[in-house]
Amino acid sequence: MTSLDDLPIRDDLRGLSPYGAPHLHLPVELNVNENTHPIPEDVARDIIESIARELLTVNRYPDREFTALRDSLAGYLGAGLTRDNIWAANGSNEVLQQILMAFGGPGRSVLGFPPTYSMHSIIAAATGTRWIAGERDEGFEISPETAVDWIERTNPDIVFFCSPNNPTGTALGLDTIAAAYDATDGIVVVDEAYAEFTPSDEPDALSLLEGRPRLIVSRTMSKAFAFAGARLGYLAADPAVTDALRLVRLPYHLSALTQAAAVAALAHAPEMLAMVDDIKAQRDRIIEGLSALGYSPWPSASNFVLFGGVDDPEWLFDRLIERGIIIRNLSIPGHLRVSAGTQAETTAFLDAMRELTAESV
Ligand code: PMP
Repeated sequence: MTSLDDLPIRDDLRGLSPYGAPHLHLPVELNVNENTHPIPEDVARDIIESIARELLTVNRYPDREFTALRDSLAGYLGAGLTRDNIWAANGSNEVLQQILMAFGGPGRSVLGFPPTYSMHSIIAAATGTRWIAGERDEGFEISPETAVDWIERTNPDIVFFCSPNNPTGTALGLDTIAAAYDATDGIVVVDEAYAEFTPSDEPDALSLLEGRPRLIVSRTMSKAFAFAGARLGYLAADPAVTDALRLVRLPYHLSALTQAAAVAALAHAPEMLAMVDDIKAQRDRIIEGLSALGYSPWPSASNFVLFGGVDDPEWLFDRLIERGIIIRNLSIPGHLRVSAGTQAETTAFLDAMRELTAESV
């Protein structure tokens, strides 16, 4: 049988592993930080009608500039943004890939701060951008001094932050982003995939965009917005950034059906986001429940919890799977990550953890 190594693949891709979240279908799936609540049925019906209308002209290419969608996304974000500040693609993974295609690539580097979202380094590899692994402070924090120190030492072309950070849940101070911006001539990206789960009284990185043309804030409809299967990620930045991305995107990269679905969903933003408060409450239940069982959950501004104090993460991960529950083993020693689910899913997880913890002592 032919193996990957037999193919004339790029030398810099040899030996790499693809994105590897196990994709099992089990009764309780708390492994990839989705919103586990289905979207409201009346909203689904509205989305279907929009898609159906669009199908009648699907013989034609879609709006290459996805203008209506950019208007909807700008309206959703507020913060004085207009369509000129907005860009979108098939998931924020593709947005990040386009950023690296335009601003990274061979001979260039991107600084990130592991443990962080695994796709950041994988997309770096795929685009031939050298990945520089910075280090975090205590408690997975990144102080302004730490960020500036790493930038001064490594002189990256791009800096990737993730706030709240996947997989730790840590929120990043705006002072760190501002200090990093001032310390580099390169692009600063803040991946805010989980922004809607952060405390609503705290400002997000959108508030820093004014006057910072090299800052990019990336978002997604996959998480709080309960739209992961539709694949829609986006960013807010200076209009010049979107002009750069037009150089690398494929023409018509967002299908007419995706555009129609996303515009219709955004028209129902309050209903789509209705479960966010409940999810945050389930996240806090997980933190309390795991603490009571003797584990060490980290504070989380997101819809997932990273918890330490696990003697044998692989054993626990496998026993949960036997009980029909999948969470995430990220190979952080002594740790596992679990997404907040519905009330019933969260209860199933906590009940199983209680039994397994009793079993393992
Ligand atoms: N950024 C972060 C931090 C994520 O956790 C994820 C998904 N797990 C993404 C981006 C990508 O999401 P999507 O491509 O579905 O928008």
